[in-house]
Amino acid sequence: MSLYQKYRPKDFDSLIGQEFVKISLQNALIQDKTVWAYLFYWSRGTGKTSVARILARWFNCLNLTKEWNPCHKCDNCESFNDGEFIDVVEIDAASNTGVDNIRELIERAQFQPNQAKYKVYIIDEVHMLSKWAFNALLKILEEPPSHVKFILATTEIHKIPETIISRTQRYDFKKITEDDISERLRHISKSEDIIADEAALSLISRLSKWWLRDAISLFEQYSIWWYLKLEYLKHNLQLVWDEFLVEFSENIINKDKDRVIKNLEFLKWKWIDVKIFIEEMVFYLRNKLIANFWKSEFSSYIEIFEALQDIYSKLRFVPDTFSSLEIWILKIISGRFLPSQEWQKGQEWKKNQEWQKQEQKTLKKEEKKENVGNDGNHSEIKSEKEEKIPKSEIKKSENSKPLNIAELIEKIKKEPWKWFVAMTLKASKFDIDEKNCIIHTSTKFNYDKLNTPELRHYLNSKIEELFWQNLNILIEFGEDSNLIWEALDVF
Ligand SMILES: [Zn+2]
Repeated sequence: MSLYQKYRPKDFDSLIGQEFVKISLQNALIQDKTVWAYLFYWSRGTGKTSVARILARWFNCLNLTKEWNPCHKCDNCESFNDGEFIDVVEIDAASNTGVDNIRELIERAQFQPNQAKYKVYIIDEVHMLSKWAFNALLKILEEPPSHVKFILATTEIHKIPETIISRTQRYDFKKITEDDISERLRHISKSEDIIADEAALSLISRLSKWWLRDAISLFEQYSIWWYLKLEYLKHNLQLVWDEFLVEFSENIINKDKDRVIKNLEFLKWKWIDVKIFIEEMVFYLRNKLIANFWKSEFSSYIEIFEALQDIYSKLRFVPDTFSSLEIWILKIISGRFLPSQEWQKGQEWKKNQEWQKQEQKTLKKEEKKENVGNDGNHSEIKSEKEEKIPKSEIKKSENSKPLNIAELIEKIKKEPWKWFVAMTLKASKFDIDEKNCIIHTSTKFNYDKLNTPELRHYLNSKIEELFWQNLNILIEFGEDSNLIWEALDVF
């Protein structure tokens, strides 16, 4: 079991952040003011599903504790923890959008629960349901059987019909803070006897960008032999040290071209991840700006800060992020970089790009409607996947050998500064066919690390060198399917 699964909150006490949701839910439960349908809203990674599961446990625990938490010991709690509790059904609406799924659910909901007080239906990403499915859901929400509870979770509340929302009790979740995450990691390191540098924990909290799952996965990935050291983390994640950030920004402010070029060469040699490097710089400059608010240095720092923000916004669109970084930095020291204008231009450009993308999507949808008719959802997903595969011709060499992932990782591990690539690959799953090597990363963080043109190119040439195969490298990231129960099997 991964640490993330092991430390998933199982009761209100182990839930981190979400104080408001926690207190108001707990109060309602204690006062016996429960409702038939709950609606949990906010971005991914805020713990909606975890709270839904806690609530489901709560409804069915036979022996609540003095603190009003599920006991984890009664028959119902135990079968819930083993994933065998058939009266709690989790559905991922993203893959069960159709009216038939919901109709089936409603039919089944009429029956009494098997072993518990309530049948609890947790519908994740509920906004993905089709119009007809929503209508079917509405029917049951209008006259719910007294033994049924619904917990709906969504990241996009505007896509849910008003009629549904008005029949639920809505809870808006909050983003988890870095402190919440550090706190949780501290708790895990204590329970697991892992000695962790405090600075390493805050670095992980920062890098995971409020994704608790990513934070715990990183923690697990880089805790080796019961140690998690900052030094170790920085080394393997291709990060630079604070001293370097100080030196680099001083050199830019002093317009010392030769030294800046040396710094850039060092970054290149270290195979730095440009995106993370800029994030680190921005974080460093932010602290500098606050500390130097009344000093003359403030304007120099703000200039670099704005320029870096601008660069960051364009990274997605350049073929070679490192060369672009070099040129942009040289532009800053030559005084030819006018951040505010550039920033604006960049924003306009981005807007334009997104607008075009949107337009293409709409066009495609319309085309599909004409071709496919009503069953739009599945074909849409399929075509988006197909789109990702470039149409370039791939030749298979006669000397090609079957791709051996373990061997690939071993070889990569031995190369200078590529240890993190090996680590990330080790934590990923692979899907390989004649043309493509699809790498399913375990975390958003790992996805961002691998999904750069440079790294895809590197992996492609490495596979070619070792196995004589020219494969498209595709990096993907999705929820761990093991965590989402196969709802339809449970029915
Ligand atoms: Zn119990």
